[in-house]
Amino acid sequence: MNASPFFIIVDVLIFLGVLGLAVQAFIGLAFFFSSVWEKERRATVFAAVQFAGMTALLIIFLLMALSGFFKTAPGMVLLIAGYITVVFAAIFMVRKTAPNLRALQGTAGYMVSKGNRFDERVQVFARNRSIRPGSKQYHQFYRDHPELEKYDSERREKGGPLGKIGLIDKPDEGPNVAALLASISIPIHLCSPEVVKPDSHPLMNGKKIDLSPSEATIRIKGYATNIGADLVGIAKINPLWIYSHRGEIFHENWEEWGREIPADHKYAIVVAEEMSFDMVGPAPHTPSLIESMKNYAKGAYISTQLAAFIANLGYEATANHLRHYTAILPPLAVDAGLGEVGRLGYLMTKEFGPRIRLSAVTTNLPLIPDKPVDIGVEDFCKFCKKCATCCPSESIPYDDEPKEFNGTLKWKLNDETCFGYWAKAGTDCCICMKVCPWSHARTFPHRLIVWLIARNKYARRIFSVMDNIFYGRISIPKAAPKWARFKN
Ligand code: SF4
Ligand code: SF4
Repeated sequence: MNASPFFIIVDVLIFLGVLGLAVQAFIGLAFFFSSVWEKERRATVFAAVQFAGMTALLIIFLLMALSGFFKTAPGMVLLIAGYITVVFAAIFMVRKTAPNLRALQGTAGYMVSKGNRFDERVQVFARNRSIRPGSKQYHQFYRDHPELEKYDSERREKGGPLGKIGLIDKPDEGPNVAALLASISIPIHLCSPEVVKPDSHPLMNGKKIDLSPSEATIRIKGYATNIGADLVGIAKINPLWIYSHRGEIFHENWEEWGREIPADHKYAIVVAEEMSFDMVGPAPHTPSLIESMKNYAKGAYISTQLAAFIANLGYEATANHLRHYTAILPPLAVDAGLGEVGRLGYLMTKEFGPRIRLSAVTTNLPLIPDKPVDIGVEDFCKFCKKCATCCPSESIPYDDEPKEFNGTLKWKLNDETCFGYWAKAGTDCCICMKVCPWSHARTFPHRLIVWLIARNKYARRIFSVMDNIFYGRISIPKAAPKWARFKN
């Protein structure tokens, strides 16, 4: 009787059931270790409970199997019901649900009317850093924008968008300020006109090297990765994302201020560098600012070398980094297929979430553009809103749907109030980046979760709720690595 084909099938089902429960318990264990590694106390407790629950289930299942229960009528009913539930749940969570068609069109998918190119002179850093009180440019700018003068004067008195650096860390901020100033000096060294828009090296003899677009694309991406880029994508430039006029000036290069920026380059190579999980965790304290500046320095290093490489091939190239922008990078990164822009206003990537910094090179070298991607960000952000809840200056909108701004649908960050908080903290805050469920370290369980949420809308809802359960809905700064501590 026990060797009948029916009972062989039951034995196979029991074996597969044990295997499935063992895999579940293993994922629970991996999540426990991941939470310990992430130094997330609350998640560690929940992961331990989850692992204990899965292990208990596995043991109960094994005991039931060994007792022969699954070969009785009620046991078989339970086994088959369990299988049906698990198979349906798996199909429900794993299958690819309807794509977001507008995300697949890149920024063009979100355009509802004709927008205008943005003038860099109005950008908050350009206003505060470049326009010196009493200068010709100062009078010219505030004559055109009188509504900003009082606000900007008050901010300048407080020390600009960053205020007094490291204020929130007192009394131990000195070494961290020294570290971030070390990084911030690199983009300054790399922003003179001959560096950001280089000529071909004399040893290249002004030669133009013929490359097909596909060969040029392979070489450019390979070179960018080789010199340190974590992600690289190519966009065909929509001129809307090129600033209309220069606004940020360094090296006393005042003839550049207010100069019209030609939108004559057809392609942008956009590069992303991962920000360290350990350094973002202590946000809004100085370690996250050190990390931002380190990555801006990397971006300056990569983009200027890449521009020099393209110039040596005989084509025009302009580096875009912290101290020299001709373009707005997040929309270019979307069009370059690196990710989608989230509620918090940053680019969100599948690989690192918003935990990245961007740099770019615009060029007339013919290249093959990448396709925009749908990784489920817009749908996830519609109901998550964690960054908006945690933002100390209430700068991130709560609206369910993105709204029109300059012809494009987006969740528009209030950058004036955001920078107001930066001045109070003396850092670049980064709380929104830190709390975003997409920012977790890419350990095995988080890779699995990102794979699921990128393809399935039900997984997005479930894991958004689970993120709140496991990690909480408020931001608590984590301990910094010892060398970058901010407390005695
Ligand atoms: S950086 Fe800070 S203040 Fe600015 S939007 Fe993010 S959480 Fe809010
Ligand atoms: S915290 Fe939530 S709402 Fe905010 S960007 Fe991240 S996923 Fe979107």
